[in-house]
Amino acid sequence: MSILNILKDKTLNKPRPRLRFAPSPTGFLHLGNFRTVLFGYLLAKSLKGDFILRLEDTDQKREVEGALDKLVEILNWIGINFDEGPHLGGPYGPYIQTQRLDIYNKHINLLLEQGKAYRCFCSEERLSQMRATQEANKQAPRYDRACRHLSTEEVKQKIANGEKYVIRQAMPLEGEIIVHDEIRGDIKFKATDLDDQVLIKSNGVPTYQFASVVDDHLMEITHVTRGDEWLPSFPKNILLYQAFNWIPPKFIHLPLILNKEGGKLSKRQGDVFVEQYRDKGYLSAAIINFCALLGWHGQGDQEIYSLLELEKDFSLEGIGASPAIFDAEKLDYYNGLYLRRLSDEDLLKAARPYLDQELLTKYDEKQLLNFISLAKDRMKKLSDITELTGFLFSLPEYSKDLLIWKDLTEERVKENLKLLKEKLESINEQNWNKEYLEENIMNWLKESGKKNGDFLWPMRVALSGLKNSPGPFEIAAALRKGNSLERMEIAIDK
Ligand code: GLU
Repeated sequence: MSILNILKDKTLNKPRPRLRFAPSPTGFLHLGNFRTVLFGYLLAKSLKGDFILRLEDTDQKREVEGALDKLVEILNWIGINFDEGPHLGGPYGPYIQTQRLDIYNKHINLLLEQGKAYRCFCSEERLSQMRATQEANKQAPRYDRACRHLSTEEVKQKIANGEKYVIRQAMPLEGEIIVHDEIRGDIKFKATDLDDQVLIKSNGVPTYQFASVVDDHLMEITHVTRGDEWLPSFPKNILLYQAFNWIPPKFIHLPLILNKEGGKLSKRQGDVFVEQYRDKGYLSAAIINFCALLGWHGQGDQEIYSLLELEKDFSLEGIGASPAIFDAEKLDYYNGLYLRRLSDEDLLKAARPYLDQELLTKYDEKQLLNFISLAKDRMKKLSDITELTGFLFSLPEYSKDLLIWKDLTEERVKENLKLLKEKLESINEQNWNKEYLEENIMNWLKESGKKNGDFLWPMRVALSGLKNSPGPFEIAAALRKGNSLERMEIAIDK
């Protein structure tokens, strides 16, 4: 533990917790990765520790331009902040792995000197032939360790000949490796199941296995939170810590996220990136609440959590080992709930980008708020606003058959609409609100012994053009008197 870390911790007897999110720069934030960063962040907060961003870009095939900026931007939008990272700097930098190559170099040399790692000069052809034979014999693919016992002289000669090599770890040849996961407890692996893993590739760049262990150690990470797809790497990581004589951090493997059918969350079945949900109008609070419960539960049956509450309540004990199920309808439920918690003003502000900008200019703020409050109850995401308010912004198109209620004749419907229109005309602008309209029209229907459906159905269709919509008085109030009467007239003429 460095002086720095000890000084930071006021109690002086425990190192300050340090957790990290270590994504590869792939461009978009997959929901699975989001759950990982969220849990890491929440655990860091609940332990009163630091949260670090480290970019694992040693797999250059996968690198995407501008990925760091995009990642920081989407996490900012969500509300997850870091204490250190490539965009912030910090005392343990650099925080981008390809800027740390000399560090890995220095560390691999330590292992080479002690015979804990070795250079492997086997050609790609030899390796693939070996794999093919192993496959044919139904054996697990494994390097046959041919180069493990090359003499120093042989190695020197090969390097002098310009032969390319990778560097592998000399793994134990027998025995058991017991590793400890904070959620699953002890897990045993047989040494004979482990390959002499590649630590440095032939281009001199480290593998994930090597770089992440070196970095987690040097950055004094105390808890590693990562998806449980990394469980097979776990014994290899621990053997590397042992090779260096380092104490490993605590490991917390987060449960898998599966779709409702029990398969992997994949692009083919729908949206899997946080950016897609943001763009469709899911609120960050809803995404956070929903994802926090993918593999974690609090005490009791509380289901609604703000980020602040989670920062306080989150704990290791609440994380399970069995897979979490991603249920898109549940996310819609949360989003609808958080949308309805917004004031009409805030909802309008958030929904504006989803509306036709030219149409917007034709209405004043008050009327737009009426439209919004009419749509609010039925919104699952902000982008629904377009469909839910379309009939308010422009004259609806519909077939005249829709105006007909049950077995009324066309003539009767027309007659009813005319009577209603006259009645509506008599209501003055100042009283034109939902409550007054409702009371007035309902009384009139009752007093004159008319059936509600015979009048209210055609009225609602005349105003909305829709089979399903909010009630006629709400729509009339939102449209105001002029527009409502215009629509009644159009219906009568149909
Ligand atoms: N770079 C790894 C990834 O792509 C990180 C795994 C870890 O957190 O150790 O997810």
